[in-house]
Amino acid sequence: MNDKDDAEAMRGRRPCPERLNSLFSEDELIEDYYQPPANDSGCWTDYGLSTLQSSRALSSSGSSMHSGSVEGLDAPAQLLPVMKAGWLDKNPPQGSYIYQKRWVKLDADYLRYFDSEKDTYSKRFIPVTSITRVASIGDQKFEVITNNRTFAFRAESDADRNEWMRTLQQMVDERKAKGSDRMSLFQPANGTLDSADKSGPLELRGFKNKLYVVVAGEKVFLYKNAEDYRLGIGITYIEMNVGNVKDVDRRGFDLTTPYRIFSFSADSDQEKEEWVEAMQQSIAEALSNSEVAQQIWSVEANRFCADCGAPKPDWASINLCVVICKRCAGEHRGLGPSITKVRSLKMDRKVWTELLIELFCQLGNSVANQFWAANVPPSEAINPASGSQERRRFLVAKYKEGKYRRYHPLFGNQEELNKALCATVTTSDLAETQSLVFCGAEVSCFSGDPDFPTPIALAEQAGQRLQMEFLLHNKNSEIPRVEVGSVEEKHYSVILPSVTHNGFLYKTPSMAKLANERKSREEFSRRWCTLNDSVFSYYENDRNTVPNGEIKMEEIVCLVTKPPDTHGFENTFEVFIESERLYLFGLDNAEAIRKWVKSIAKSFVHPHAEELLSHDFERIGRLQYKGGLSLEQAKEGWFALAQSTLYAFFEDSDKEEALHLKKLQELSLQGDNLVLVERRRTLYIQGERKLDFSGWVAAIQKAAGSSGDTLSEQQLTESDVPVIVDRCIDYITQCGLTSDGIYRKSGQNSKITSLLEMLRKDARRVRLKEGEHQVDDVSNTLKRFFRDLGDGLFTKECCQDWLKAAAIEDEEEKISRYRHLLSSLPVVNRATVKALINHLYRVQYFSDMNQMNTHNLAIVFGPTLFQTDGKDYKPGLVVEDLINHYVLIFSVDEQEMRKQQDEITAILKMRVAGSSSGTQQAGDFICTVYLEEKKTEAEQHVKIPATMTADELTFEILDRRKILMKEKEYWSCFEVNEREEAERPLHHAEKVLPILHCLGTDSYLVVKKQLSMENMLIYLASRVGDSKHGMMKFREERNLLGLGLSTGFHDRYFILNRSCLRLYKEVRSSKQRIPVLENSHRPEKEWPVKNLKVYLGIKKKLRPPTCWGFTVFFENEKHEKQQWYLCCDTQMELREWFATFLHVQNGGNVWPSESSKVRASRTQHDSRLGNISLIPLRGNENEMRNSVAAFAADPLTLLRDA
Ligand SMILES: [Zn+2]
Repeated sequence: MNDKDDAEAMRGRRPCPERLNSLFSEDELIEDYYQPPANDSGCWTDYGLSTLQSSRALSSSGSSMHSGSVEGLDAPAQLLPVMKAGWLDKNPPQGSYIYQKRWVKLDADYLRYFDSEKDTYSKRFIPVTSITRVASIGDQKFEVITNNRTFAFRAESDADRNEWMRTLQQMVDERKAKGSDRMSLFQPANGTLDSADKSGPLELRGFKNKLYVVVAGEKVFLYKNAEDYRLGIGITYIEMNVGNVKDVDRRGFDLTTPYRIFSFSADSDQEKEEWVEAMQQSIAEALSNSEVAQQIWSVEANRFCADCGAPKPDWASINLCVVICKRCAGEHRGLGPSITKVRSLKMDRKVWTELLIELFCQLGNSVANQFWAANVPPSEAINPASGSQERRRFLVAKYKEGKYRRYHPLFGNQEELNKALCATVTTSDLAETQSLVFCGAEVSCFSGDPDFPTPIALAEQAGQRLQMEFLLHNKNSEIPRVEVGSVEEKHYSVILPSVTHNGFLYKTPSMAKLANERKSREEFSRRWCTLNDSVFSYYENDRNTVPNGEIKMEEIVCLVTKPPDTHGFENTFEVFIESERLYLFGLDNAEAIRKWVKSIAKSFVHPHAEELLSHDFERIGRLQYKGGLSLEQAKEGWFALAQSTLYAFFEDSDKEEALHLKKLQELSLQGDNLVLVERRRTLYIQGERKLDFSGWVAAIQKAAGSSGDTLSEQQLTESDVPVIVDRCIDYITQCGLTSDGIYRKSGQNSKITSLLEMLRKDARRVRLKEGEHQVDDVSNTLKRFFRDLGDGLFTKECCQDWLKAAAIEDEEEKISRYRHLLSSLPVVNRATVKALINHLYRVQYFSDMNQMNTHNLAIVFGPTLFQTDGKDYKPGLVVEDLINHYVLIFSVDEQEMRKQQDEITAILKMRVAGSSSGTQQAGDFICTVYLEEKKTEAEQHVKIPATMTADELTFEILDRRKILMKEKEYWSCFEVNEREEAERPLHHAEKVLPILHCLGTDSYLVVKKQLSMENMLIYLASRVGDSKHGMMKFREERNLLGLGLSTGFHDRYFILNRSCLRLYKEVRSSKQRIPVLENSHRPEKEWPVKNLKVYLGIKKKLRPPTCWGFTVFFENEKHEKQQWYLCCDTQMELREWFATFLHVQNGGNVWPSESSKVRASRTQHDSRLGNISLIPLRGNENEMRNSVAAFAADPLTLLRDA
């Protein structure tokens, strides 16, 4: 029977199918159906429904693996045998108690249910891959559980229920097992998400709400909505091999199938055109696909995989002449093209010439297996369910080692084999040729006849075209060898359409350095180039058979398209290979070059990273990188650079990630590493090979820089504001808010010019510093940037509209007009307007001091932003409006306002504090913070806003490195002073920026666990009162006092309470440890607690008597400073003193309450984290060890000792 004809007949018949049917009574969609199907045509009967049922392949037992049905029409639908089908009760929809009878069908991909067994289109399909579990719930009921939904069914009997559960569970397990290899990417169930040709909401007549429709490959899927699409759970799918698309009216079109007409309506004619085109494509694909397969499957033996027996195999090895299933094809690919050339019956349409199809019908699985599988021990055979390892082992034995083949009687006798081959190829005995070739006869042996020197020539002369075809495909085939070398070939189990491409290209000799100079046409020579089975070869001309040279795809590390006219040829591309060579190719044909680049990229980029190919990349390749958690070991990633985005496919990720190069916080070359700092991560790209790496560095640096004079071409901040603008605003905010006549006073022209030039070149690197840069220079730089801006801030197209808006009299209307105009600006312009107006709003807030009220600012900024001469005040009006109505126009909420207010307060405070020191840096907000210890690889670069607290910084760092803060882990930010060999944990609510500004060059911030925190909290909770007193050894910093005091440590008595730390020279009675220190007993010294900063540790140079010491800094309101040292006798005392300091300085709030609630058990010390805080910085090894032990000790000892 001719399947194709049958299908045509069916398509032609189309017996007035029903237009709407049971699809609409879907329980979960019940609210959608109120709309009656009203006045549609008379095709309203069930006619045609029963003529063809999709359940035909279902055997009576309900579970036949080999349905064997190849009848045309339902062929694709039945590619997957039905594992089980039957009637089940489906749980009632919400608000109803009546169970609904459903015909339920399970195949390898989907669990579907229907109104009746005659229905073709389901009411619901659930991909097997999305099922996580099947559970019994009593009363013959069971649940099918997916990640987001649960479907309950009731069977007729327990036995039936159990059978359903068993089958379902088995399918789910199988899919899970499969899911672990990459084959699953190509399974339809979860492939729809990636492979959608077109998707979107679309109206299906009769439905109240739009459905979400997806055209993917040969199917059209209907989902209730986009969310369901994402979850994979849909209503039904339509096999397009039976589909036909018909225009109905301007926006409507019908998808007709023999079973039903789906009447869609798009939002616009444009949309409709796209849908119609996508569906027609899908039909074409479905039909042409089956053509080759149908022809090849017409031979019975070709309907099952030659290797494992799986039904409907749609792949083939064209040299071995076997038809194989998708999973076996994956393993075939792993054997390499010299052993088996894998092609798809469906995708590689060009390969399938009439001749090749004929060869497959003559030779095919039956004849091939008589040879290759003549002696397969049953224990070694595989079946459709075999795992991939098993499969691989079998296929290596079968085709690479030839272990099961039928040996030719002439095996081992080369001369005789060759002679026999020359004789056989002139006959039609293909089986004999196959046997000879794969037992060692040489396809290119000399026949002895100079006129027809090879077997191919002989076959041609004899008119044996099938023999020729067979020999051609096996010209370079590797003959099985039993002793297989240990060389593991690269194994890809993913199947991509094989890439073949050829044509003339011009090439230069290969180079060992970058082609930075223009190569003239004369330096190129014309070569015939072919890309075939993962080898790119170039020949003197298209008649030559021996290539001048070859590039293996696996050697390629990078592929680059050069901008037009870089060299003598209009279009050129470069290929970099592992051994540090560079090949340059050119042609005056952009389209041809594009095709070459695509083909080469497709064949060398790892299938895993295939997604990268979808970008219009200028550079693609693999590189070593470090990033994320494992900085110790470099990994291999695939990268593609397209304009200013670097797309990356990291080793352990299955999705590409995009780095927006213009938005990097930092980009620098450190040794052999290119360091890319983003807000949430730092990526190190390593220069494994010099040549391609230097190309990448230059390209990334270029892409990360500003590329023109419009806003969007600048380096950008996270919030889409040009870095230039951000830097200037930051600086003015830090140093210029209160500066007299800010933005009105002019700066020094030469300085403004050079500053703007510097910022334009690489704004990210520019750090504006007080003292080095004048406020008025910076403010004028910002103005000049806006004045010279290409296209202007409000865009040339719209700026007249803005000016018109200023004239609107009605306030409300005007504001709404501004809001509208704002929303229609490009993203970067909008963000910049907001940032600037926000800034000006703050500037006018200080008009008391800077004399710049809104009006004055508007006079300056109107002409600047609108790039006018200033004669007309309209631009000024706009600026004035924007500032006056800042809160309304930009929808600034209360919280944001408060945050800004805080920030201003913080800045002002800092200015007061910093004004005397004069060392303050402004605008320099990016700070290096270490994680756990100070070393390059633990570096994190963080932008510190004025409001950021130590806790926020800690979370930011942990978040970047994906470290979860567990309970009873006291991660804190520490200020480490290397010169003093002391460190201080910042209080969680402490603002970081002021600390940063005060940090000396020998100080840094590190985020690590505060290991003693738990013990300190226990101590604080257990004691009575707020104070602590006792003896400590005391030493003053002599330099500061300069009074020649003794340099040693001396016993002193201390009392620390909520307000003061007091020092007493003597304690009157040694028995009287609790000092009743009446007024007469005056302290020798007394310091307010709020003026103290307490650091743990004392520098070794001072020879502290114990290793439990503090360094204390004192600074009062008059900026008088003192520094001295305290030493405790025991580690426990140190901890208690320190805890009390923290307690009194922070009003008892030592740790955020959530974390401190739980303190029943001790912190587990993670051995991975080598850094222990609070370890005394001096002491012999023993003391150090003891101290570490003490910190980890049972907290109860604390109480006991006390
Ligand atoms: Zn197979």
